[in-house]
Amino acid sequence: MIVDYHMHLRNGREEIAHDTWSVEPFVEAARTARVDEIGFTEHVYYFRQTRSLWTVPYQTERCVYDLEAYVTAITGARERGLPVKLGLEVDYVTGREDETRELLAPYPWDYLLGSIHFIDGLGIDGKPRLLDAVGVDDGWRRYFETLAGAASSGLFDSLSHPDLVKIFGERAQSFDYDPVADAIAESGVAVEVSTAGLRKPVHELYPHPNFLAACRKRGVPVTLGSDAHSPDVVGRDFDRARELLRSVGYETVTVFERRQARQEPLG
Ligand SMILES: [Zn+2]
Ligand SMILES: [Zn+2]
Repeated sequence: MIVDYHMHLRNGREEIAHDTWSVEPFVEAARTARVDEIGFTEHVYYFRQTRSLWTVPYQTERCVYDLEAYVTAITGARERGLPVKLGLEVDYVTGREDETRELLAPYPWDYLLGSIHFIDGLGIDGKPRLLDAVGVDDGWRRYFETLAGAASSGLFDSLSHPDLVKIFGERAQSFDYDPVADAIAESGVAVEVSTAGLRKPVHELYPHPNFLAACRKRGVPVTLGSDAHSPDVVGRDFDRARELLRSVGYETVTVFERRQARQEPLG
């Protein structure tokens, strides 16, 4: 089994289009790419229902779409028997766990991805950047502390692009993945192997093989994601992701249904 559990629903002009008909080109593309099941994971901050969570202008400026419409677009396709799952890419904000949980509780998610794009108003993949403000070593330390917090929060089913902090190729002098892998293992959350990093300045899969090996050693489950914003990217470079997974000993992938996880043999 191969799943692509990270993509953003867009129309043919790559505009946000939370409607059932925009789902179908993604399903078609998945079939072509031999991906068995896909999951849509729109950014949580695009929805006006989540407005109260945000303080960063990048996020507050974007809360204009209706979460109900998004959910209906995906569940409509799901009910028609298409191999699609309802997910959301949720920014983790330290200290706002209860509010995040309450805001998202009413919807029939198959899974929630936990992401860290900002820490204390500073961007990981956007400006103004955390690493410019505090330096690479400290930026890495803070990023992974926050990731451990995201794991321990229990809010998420999988952690997306888990070492996003390396996106521009900057690396801490030396880094020990054991503490964050311990927190992840203890929480039961999965980690995503993402091919998006191959299309970024770092030109690498997320996460680093050493990080993934630390997860494997502790029995942490995995998902796969392309982070596609258009159908042609669905399943992109999944041969590379599979190779990485197998190289550290993974033989199964996680399938989510209404926030229940099960393992399927990795195809
Ligand atoms: Zn992301
Ligand atoms: Zn994404």
